[in-house]
Amino acid sequence: MTVPDREELLAVGARLAAEAARFSALGWMRATSGNLSEVLSTEPLLLAVTASGRDKGELRPNDVAVVDARGDAVDLPGIAPVRPSAEAGLHAHVAAVTGARSVVHVHTLNAVEAARHWPDGVLLHDLEMLKALDRDAHEDVVRVPVIANSQDMGELAERFDNVYDGAPAVLVAGHGCYVWGQDHLQARWRTEGLDWLLGAALRAG
Ligand SMILES: [Zn+2]
Repeated sequence: MTVPDREELLAVGARLAAEAARFSALGWMRATSGNLSEVLSTEPLLLAVTASGRDKGELRPNDVAVVDARGDAVDLPGIAPVRPSAEAGLHAHVAAVTGARSVVHVHTLNAVEAARHWPDGVLLHDLEMLKALDRDAHEDVVRVPVIANSQDMGELAERFDNVYDGAPAVLVAGHGCYVWGQDHLQARWRTEGLDWLLGAALRAG
């Protein structure tokens, strides 16, 4: 097991803070909502996740918690413990199931609207922006699944398993979305692309 040292964790924390400030400026992480994570190790699974209860536009590098595969906080020697978001459990589950190294969870209006409009999943096709999800702009249909919201991360994880079929995103009804990738850039680009795609689908009805 590679235990991250303080310097490594602060570097990840700085990256998560910069990403959170970006999403906050887009209105997707209002107040203390949403959370971001990065995988620190896979054996065992450890993730760095943004701290709970902090303004996501003003995170500092040390506003980062380390969690295990269940989303429970892990205390590391020499690192002050920080309370992780309650949603860290789903981040860890998504990383374990999909192999993602970076997970974004934001509360976008387009995700909420699209989940209300298409509760059985959102079909996207014939849009150039599908390339942001590493799919073809033509002759390809991407189905972004929708799951019902819950405060129980185990329940959400089960619902995720029932709908996951390879698309790098899931909408949570009345809540927001989770999007993931191999690193923070891919996760960011997919999140921004997805929001545009959902907005385009909603306008088209
Ligand atoms: Zn949330």
